[in-house]
Amino acid sequence: MSKICLSLTAKTIARDLEILEKYRAWADMAELRVDCLDQDERFYIRRFPALAGIPVILSIRRSVDGGEFTKGEGARIVLFSKGLAFAEVDQRRNFGYLDLEEDVDAPGLLEVSRAFGTKIIRSFYNLKGVDDDLPVRIRSLRQSGDEIAKVVVTPRTLEDMLKVYRAAAETTDAEKIITCRGDFGANAQILAERLGSHLSYCSIKGENDVTSASDVQLDPKELVETFRFRNITKNTKVFAVTGFPLKVAISPRFYNRVFSIEEIDAVYLPVPADSFDSMIRLADDIGIAGISVTVPYKEAVIPYLSWESQRVKLTGACNTLIAAEQGWMGYNTDARGFAGSILSFTGLKNLKGKKITIVGTGGAARAVTAVVSQLMGRALILNRTVVKARSLAALYGFSWGGLDSQGFKMMKRYSDIIIQATPVGMEGRPDEDPLDFYQFTGKEQVMDLIYQPEKTRCLRRAEEAGCKIINGSDMLLRQARYQYRYFIGKEFPPSLVDRVGLNEIV
Ligand code: NAP
Repeated sequence: MSKICLSLTAKTIARDLEILEKYRAWADMAELRVDCLDQDERFYIRRFPALAGIPVILSIRRSVDGGEFTKGEGARIVLFSKGLAFAEVDQRRNFGYLDLEEDVDAPGLLEVSRAFGTKIIRSFYNLKGVDDDLPVRIRSLRQSGDEIAKVVVTPRTLEDMLKVYRAAAETTDAEKIITCRGDFGANAQILAERLGSHLSYCSIKGENDVTSASDVQLDPKELVETFRFRNITKNTKVFAVTGFPLKVAISPRFYNRVFSIEEIDAVYLPVPADSFDSMIRLADDIGIAGISVTVPYKEAVIPYLSWESQRVKLTGACNTLIAAEQGWMGYNTDARGFAGSILSFTGLKNLKGKKITIVGTGGAARAVTAVVSQLMGRALILNRTVVKARSLAALYGFSWGGLDSQGFKMMKRYSDIIIQATPVGMEGRPDEDPLDFYQFTGKEQVMDLIYQPEKTRCLRRAEEAGCKIINGSDMLLRQARYQYRYFIGKEFPPSLVDRVGLNEIV
């Protein structure tokens, strides 16, 4: 079973121990990054394993490998020796592992380690990308049968991650550790067991004294509590959410919480995809059972479908993929999620007589427009690229315009309800507002489909003007309950509707 290893990168041993204490419940072992310690602290590393009380890796990472150690190799070997000196018979008081790079030739260290039961990890770092010959690397790293090979790579694209998963599949017989640095690698951290990685390194954002020391994204608490790391086996069903850039927090918490309560052997992970084509190949390769599709792929996904639901046909957008024997089946649960959310928000049974502005023409806006039409509302579609507003509006006999003064004039006649359905104002670009030309009167009911941040600039302006507002999290949860049915093959348990609501998971 893959273990969770907390990488400790503080400047003092006391601080490392403080961090370990805080996260002890979720860590199986620790890595003492001696290179991050202040000079005078390095004299005391020998006592660390006894103080830590869990197996510890002794690691002194060189600057060339992304570490903080800048002195010569001689000084580093002396430091390693300090860590291994005066070995005790009780092995728990010795370092459990010694992390040496592939080019280190220090027979004395190896001899002492073996004599006292300290395992050797043989490391290779690629701080710029992922090697094409990664399986060869993994196999050739170990200098004797009792060593563990460790590769630290830096995926820059999802295609790089595909190389990592394939390398893992080709080296199932090798004892190894695989660590993927950066945003693309978080799913590998969660799926360490599937990768056959001996352990999954974690670090704590905000608690690293040395920020460059943090290779990985998730902390041990997130791994265990959100992503159920300790329950993942080779048989666990894998679901994913994909988009780019991918900033999702609600849906992984929602699904993993429900899987946990319902005791379903499944995990739901974020997989940022800079190319949807790579996503589909990765999903096929590692056997992903279902995918939630988000910005900007809801339309781009359609050519990959072997079957599409009526709602996908109607809206031209798909947010749910299910792996089937004949290929990927596509559904759209945004439409139903939006319908439930808008009716509950307005307190109406339908939108008859309501004049509504819809901003955007992407996947989300397409689902919104179809629902507004079905619920008998009348809409004005506004879009940056006016020609797209015109063609979407034409499908339903709605009005259309641009995001400009002309659009502003038209909006005055379509202002009972305003629905913002573009990604403008999302986390990362919080100062943007696609309706900055429009002054809210306070009478409009305003819905922004974005849920991160909780209130976009547009929504804050509407609230300040006195409008009734709602963000997209209610819609997200509603659509997720429908998506659950496609993922798991049974209805979302009604008893969980309140139990796994926003208050519980945000
Ligand atoms: P999308 O396909 O990427 O959206 C494209 C639309 O956004 C187009 O109309 C595009 O205009 C417009 N747009 C993009 N950048 C713009 C800019 N700088 N200024 C003006 N318009 C801009 O995304 P989507 O999948 O439709 O999703 C849209 C939003 O809804 C996202 O924030 C997503 O998170 C949210 N959403 C929420 C839920 C939920 O359950 N709450 C469900 C689905 C989506 P052009 O045509 O001119 O390029």
